[in-house]
Amino acid sequence: MLKYEQLLDVAYQSLPEKKSTGERFEIPVADTFLQGNKTLLRNFDALCQTLRRKPEEVSKFLFRELATPGALDGSRLLLHAKLSPRLVNEKIALYAQSHVICRECKKPDTYLLSHGRGPKTLVCEACGARSPVLA
Ligand SMILES: [Zn+2]
Repeated sequence: MLKYEQLLDVAYQSLPEKKSTGERFEIPVADTFLQGNKTLLRNFDALCQTLRRKPEEVSKFLFRELATPGALDGSRLLLHAKLSPRLVNEKIALYAQSHVICRECKKPDTYLLSHGRGPKTLVCEACGARSPVLA
């Protein structure tokens, strides 16, 4: 019989090779909580800090993508629908990929430039890449 440590070794060996060393940006995971027919994101403020985006901007994206109205409630976000944690986190990952992570170097050290009503530009502080934000 395999010992626990050996099982771990096997598990590690079957993982795909890491693409980069050192710090890799982890997309934050929402701590969702169903309250009646509403969904509460209890760590929304912390989540936005990790993404380095304003809660107003991230919530606007989520309202649109989830087709659900909602409101900021202190450090939390309240969505006026019953949503699965999986769906909410898919949208947060989508936001991170389209509005935060640099397409060139995959780092999250970016900011958004807005041009009036047109699409925003994602500017990377690490490599200088600029790309339009489509979503
Ligand atoms: Zn970059």
